[in-house]
Amino acid sequence: MSAENKVEEVQQKVESLEIKKDQQQPKQAKKSKDKKAKVSGGLFANTYLSPESEFIAKRDEKFNEILNRYNAEIAAKPRHAIKIELKDGNLVDAKAWETSPMDIAKEVINTTFAEKQCISKVNGELWDLERPFEASQDGEVLKLEFFDFNTDEGKRVFWHSSAHVLGESCECHTGAHISHGPPTDDGFFYDFAIKDSWDTENPGLPVSQADFAPLEQIAQDVVKQKQKFERLVMTKEELLEMFKYSKYKTHFISSKIADGESTTVYKCGKLIDLCIGPHIPHTGKIKCFKLLKNSSCYLWGDSNNESLQRVYGVSFPDKKLMKEHMKFLEEAALRDHRKIGREQELFMFNEMSPGSAFWLPHGTRIYNTLTSMMREQYVKRGYQEVITPNMYNSKLWETSGHWNHYKENMFTFEVEKESFGLKPMNCPGHCVMFKSRERSYRELPWRVADFGVIHRNEFSGALSGLTRVRRFQQDDAHIFCMESQIETEIAGIFDFLKYVYGVFDFEFKMELSTRPEKYVGDLETWNGAEAKLQSALEKSGADWEINPGDGAFYGPKIDIMISDALKRWHQCATIQLDFQLPNRFDLNFKSNNSDGYERPVMIHRAILGSVERMTAILTEHFAGKWPFWLSPRQVLIVPVGVGYQDYAKELTEILVSQNIYADVDLTGETLPKKVRNGQMLKYNFIFIVGHAEAEERSVNIRNRDVLEEQGKNATVKFDVVLEQLKKLKSDRRNDNLLI
Ligand SMILES: [Zn+2]
Ligand SMILES: [Zn+2]
Repeated sequence: MSAENKVEEVQQKVESLEIKKDQQQPKQAKKSKDKKAKVSGGLFANTYLSPESEFIAKRDEKFNEILNRYNAEIAAKPRHAIKIELKDGNLVDAKAWETSPMDIAKEVINTTFAEKQCISKVNGELWDLERPFEASQDGEVLKLEFFDFNTDEGKRVFWHSSAHVLGESCECHTGAHISHGPPTDDGFFYDFAIKDSWDTENPGLPVSQADFAPLEQIAQDVVKQKQKFERLVMTKEELLEMFKYSKYKTHFISSKIADGESTTVYKCGKLIDLCIGPHIPHTGKIKCFKLLKNSSCYLWGDSNNESLQRVYGVSFPDKKLMKEHMKFLEEAALRDHRKIGREQELFMFNEMSPGSAFWLPHGTRIYNTLTSMMREQYVKRGYQEVITPNMYNSKLWETSGHWNHYKENMFTFEVEKESFGLKPMNCPGHCVMFKSRERSYRELPWRVADFGVIHRNEFSGALSGLTRVRRFQQDDAHIFCMESQIETEIAGIFDFLKYVYGVFDFEFKMELSTRPEKYVGDLETWNGAEAKLQSALEKSGADWEINPGDGAFYGPKIDIMISDALKRWHQCATIQLDFQLPNRFDLNFKSNNSDGYERPVMIHRAILGSVERMTAILTEHFAGKWPFWLSPRQVLIVPVGVGYQDYAKELTEILVSQNIYADVDLTGETLPKKVRNGQMLKYNFIFIVGHAEAEERSVNIRNRDVLEEQGKNATVKFDVVLEQLKKLKSDRRNDNLLI
């Protein structure tokens, strides 16, 4: 199935580095002119390191020397008359090596529009707004587009540019050697070491949150100065000379740039960084800049390398957006599944098995309820569940292709001198089953479901709660079918998706990824399959778009994205057509139109995806307030005094016998304390029972989600409530109403 992890970012929480006493002492700046904030607890007493690191001035000198040469080169370029084609089709006159997208934005559109833009694209290539157009002859037509912060392109460039500001702050405040600072999905970070990067003996100083204030202060200065991002093309030799002070940059130049090649650096204030760009025109666009967290990480994300410091930040072009984002982060932190998992005792981790959750009793209830729902649907939808091995001889992985292409993601070991691997996917096992005897067209489609335990060798530093684990289960299934059955099967999966996501109140959208340049199978099969997927998507009535050329080499796929309560998108479900695995395993079925055999198509599909990850998403989506049917704590019964304990116990036993997760609180705590405990644990209902209730076999109900009833709660006959609870559960409603 498709890899779950899009983000390459590798975050490593290593134990804080052991620092020798003398290294912990802040370097005393000689006679600082710096009058700005002294920050208690930070690494350095002054905002700006004084004197500044030597490499800064040297780097600048080299930059200016090459810039003069470069400017002369540009000045000598012929100013060809060209045309710029705008989005609306209008053609505008321009001069090569002179006019820039910014000129067009200001003069042809208007200054308000121009001010808002983060980046442009020229003939589809991201292009600095103030970089002149390039052309080699008169009359060339270049297509121009603009992107502001509300676009993915604009946001990425904005955060990428903000990472440079962070890099500049790190150099100016600590004299750090910076390594690598990309944008992420929700901001940016920079990796660096506070030491000479060539000095491998020295671990460098560790950063803490106390260092954020001076770093932010410098960033603010940088913003105020509206520092321009200046682009300069340099040769590999020049780059090696300019960055010789830094092991990190030198390594990057040596390994990524071929001999004789050139690349670009960008200067922004004091910072000159190796970067292909592009950037926003100047730092003044960044109206808000905030540092959020820090951690340790490994150089290049490789645990064999030295530890670096990483600081994360976020920035926005206006204050309102920052405010909204901080509110969002606050809400997300409250909902964090790791936090709720601890509070509700759902699951835990232990260093004895990193990346593999221990599901505690209440978490196991959720896990099992999810898989039960799928099993119930499997029966209704003609799937057959199977159980398959966890470890297979490497010969199987050679046949499936995993041994060549996926081995480093697998746990492998030797058994009786033969090599084995723990399965990272169920598909090959299902192929073995399919092949175990002759198959007829009459048996197709064969829908094989498997909750098998899967292991993937994720780098320990990448592990995170339930969202990135080494051990997980999926609601995995493979459909072996004829080509003519593809469309009906896909439609069936869509119907299944709608049911499951409807239960959770998830909005979803789908993306069809089509044939890439390199592919297996014949063109006709691909075209046929893609047409069938498109047709099924159109008929589904769901939101969908197409990603041309983004399919796997072995078949087109549909990714399904769900949107949670915080409007975050998660990819859980995938539907993947596969023309290759049936080939590799030489799968056949007896054809219905001749005496011959045909090859089946395989459809890989999962709806929940990893049950672990889905539990994390659901925990955050519901903020730990589980809908009744999925809740691990459904009813808490609280007797108001010792005299009503027997009645309370009796009701609890009845509820438990009806498969309702009910508990009774017989502790000596006060009534308000007991109710509070029940509320903390998010019981859907708290039943309070006393004299009147015991007399008339009723309960006084506190509903977790219905505030109006707090304080003046309904008293309802127990028999009535029991039926209502059973209905609420079987309906899988999320409203928590007893009706
Ligand atoms: Zn950059
Ligand atoms: Zn599969």
